[in-house]
Amino acid sequence: MVRGIRPFVENRRILDVISCPTHCRPITITPPFKSMVKETVGQTVTSVSRLGKRVVLNLSNQSNVVIEPRMTGLMLLANAPDQDHLRIEWQFEGEREFNSIWFWDRRGLGTVRLYRPGEIEQVYGPDQLGPDALVFTVDQWRERLKGTSREVKVALLDQRLVAGIGNLYASEILHVAGINPQKSCQKLTKPQIERIAEATRQVLERAIETEGSTLGDGTYRNALSQSGQYQNEHRVYMREGQPCPTCHRGTILRLVQAQRSTFYCPKCQR
Ligand SMILES: [Zn+2]
Repeated sequence: MVRGIRPFVENRRILDVISCPTHCRPITITPPFKSMVKETVGQTVTSVSRLGKRVVLNLSNQSNVVIEPRMTGLMLLANAPDQDHLRIEWQFEGEREFNSIWFWDRRGLGTVRLYRPGEIEQVYGPDQLGPDALVFTVDQWRERLKGTSREVKVALLDQRLVAGIGNLYASEILHVAGINPQKSCQKLTKPQIERIAEATRQVLERAIETEGSTLGDGTYRNALSQSGQYQNEHRVYMREGQPCPTCHRGTILRLVQAQRSTFYCPKCQR
């Protein structure tokens, strides 16, 4: 989501922020929308960054707008799946190919928060949010994982332990690494942790290249609301009952861990 909007947002001045007309229950916006408008209109977006799964607009007055998509939220440049679930529009000065971005959210669980200068570091300091999965070193992985006896799949989803791994990617990462999702973190060997580190980089980089995954409900879209392509590359996710594409010996199984589905091959993920 960050990559798609960045070229049309960075170094542009916010002309207006608009609450889109909708019949839906409003999403959570803090501070209240009027204050949000007052404190952001006229500011320039100096950069767009990613904080775990969140999109962050860093503003010229050193404040930060954090958009958390949760289950169904999308940041779009155009082609919203429908008008009724558009939530907020940011309009930018000047004339380019795209002059607005929208936050669209079908279920409305997403949030938009403005952090005043210095606040974001307090809220998302190292205790609140682990280092981003893409910049995690093997040593960091080892240190974090050996401190917990939880099942490895559950630990990968803990944003305080490591930020940025969604449920789908956790299954894919453990498959690529050849590790059973129910294995206790404390029992992981050094080579296994190295494989998790490498698989994480491989899976997340590929996902970014192909702009995410479009799931069964069609929710995930890139900034132009086109489907992502990563779902064509899933090895285990949503492939229950199918032969394993990696070892060709096992059949993909589904289990539930911490209320989330996990998919894995019992033959090559022992
Ligand atoms: Zn297999």
